[in-house]
Amino acid sequence: MPKRLAAIPTVISAALVAGGTAVLVAAAVGTHRWPLPTVLTAVAALVGGLVMWWRGTRARLEAVVLSSLPSPPALAAPLDELSGLLHRQAITAELARATETGPGSLLIIDIDRFRDLNQYLGHACADDVLRQLGSRLARSAGPGERLGRLGADEFALVTPNSAPAEALATARRVRDLVEVPFQVGGGDLVRLDLSVGIVSWDQNPPRVDQLLSQAHEARRLARAQGLPMQRWDPDRDSMATRRLALADALRRSVRREELQLYYQPKVHLGTGEVVGVEALARWQHEGEMISPELFVSMAEEAGLIASLTRGLLDQALGQVARWDAQGLRLSVSVNLSPRNLLDPALPRRVSQLLERHGIAPRRLVLEITETTLMPDRTRSGEVLERLRASGVRLSIDDYGTGNAALNYLRDFSVDELKLDRSYVAAMVSDERTFAIVASTVAMGRRLGLDVVAEGVERIEEVDALIRCGCEIIQGYLVCPPVPPAELTAWLRDNARSSRADPPSPNGPRLTDGAAGPGGIGGLGGLVGRGPAQPR
Ligand code: C2E
Ligand code: CA
Ligand code: CA
Repeated sequence: MPKRLAAIPTVISAALVAGGTAVLVAAAVGTHRWPLPTVLTAVAALVGGLVMWWRGTRARLEAVVLSSLPSPPALAAPLDELSGLLHRQAITAELARATETGPGSLLIIDIDRFRDLNQYLGHACADDVLRQLGSRLARSAGPGERLGRLGADEFALVTPNSAPAEALATARRVRDLVEVPFQVGGGDLVRLDLSVGIVSWDQNPPRVDQLLSQAHEARRLARAQGLPMQRWDPDRDSMATRRLALADALRRSVRREELQLYYQPKVHLGTGEVVGVEALARWQHEGEMISPELFVSMAEEAGLIASLTRGLLDQALGQVARWDAQGLRLSVSVNLSPRNLLDPALPRRVSQLLERHGIAPRRLVLEITETTLMPDRTRSGEVLERLRASGVRLSIDDYGTGNAALNYLRDFSVDELKLDRSYVAAMVSDERTFAIVASTVAMGRRLGLDVVAEGVERIEEVDALIRCGCEIIQGYLVCPPVPPAELTAWLRDNARSSRADPPSPNGPRLTDGAAGPGGIGGLGGLVGRGPAQPR
């Protein structure tokens, strides 16, 4: 309402009050004799004026009181609905404030493979994981630190007034928060990996949007390198260029099938027999060996994993056929990436390759790691079932390091467990680990599975494994992964026989504690005879 119009009720109420009062005063003092109707009209005018005046005053009072309260937009919480932490705009504002108060750091914290998590668990459980992570982060935040959720699975932590050197310690603290798995919905345990990107500023901070994109770039690099955290390198362009160049080179190498397979034997302790070989991918780029963990994760990110796996399967089966032709009958294990199991075309492709190379399905073992959770009822479950139905064997890799191993064992028929190297190394000096290994071996036996000890490096480990009843080992102590020609030579020099088919239930077995050092002797001198340098 225009100001002048708004004043009209006040003017009228003042006139009514003044007029009414004047008539009543005049009537009361008796200067004039006023007729009764006039006096009543004056009373009505006075009362009406007072009412109007009061209403106006109350409205003004209300306006004053309301305007002193926070207005509705200010009341809208600066909080993210899902996590209860600051939302994107609020944490960005906190970041801007922090850059004005002195040196500090920004950490961007991102969950690895969150998309898979959403897919395997469903949105409700994945949201629950986000909430739980948010509250772990909030509980661990130091005084003055500001925490927010930028979106999806991405959190931001601002540490104002801190020296850049403190940022790494903060990132380590964040990483340690996920050491304990998360419990969701039906009691499934979920283990998370985080990638943290760190950017720090001193007296002359860059703009907030620059800080955010620098932290993102550092986070991307951490993930691509398979590292839990990475700091922003001021030479940003060169970092990004390096990453893109490497991904491009990998794409080319996969297309031209330049990746190579090395092979590492698995040996039966009792008989000295080579029960199979594991194929491990190698990529040499510009004279440098790139770690398989790095290029496999790059291949996953770049959508190359299906063609990479296909090429390696082709190569491995081709090699087995060549060994066959040389009179060396071997079975081969090929590693699958968790993402391969989401590819419904995989089982058919595997069967075609087996057929093309004339290899019986039982001579191919597919190793699946259990570090990425895969509850049943999923696409990966169906792919596993179809693979299994086609006759190929399945193995659980890195057994003991993930969350889903027992689920796998309950829900799928697998043929082999590969006990993670961390158990093998620790069981020598730690009784509890020894007990875990011994019961895993016993469980494997009851389920009719081979238990393979991975990464065996020392003779004491062999001794402990024999005492546990574990019969099959793989590791540098026997032979590191080597190119096929070297493995052929090694097999000719060392192996008395090889076993291409699955072990028969009546095959040679060591009994608990009974084999003693004689079991090592059973290796027939295989131990320690591999090429000296691990590769
Ligand atoms: P993994 O499947 O657990 O393979 C065993 C790793 O342990 C190999 O590392 C092998 O070289 C190493 N190793 C063997 N014996 C010993 C030992 O006595 N001591 C120690 N400390 N290590 C030993 P590598 O070749 O660097 O491969 C690392 C990982 O990369 C593999 O772990 C596997 O997860 C992945 N990977 C390798 N090749 C492929 C592939 O073709 N496809 C997929 N999806 N992943 C692959
Ligand atoms: Ca493996
Ligand atoms: Ca392994």
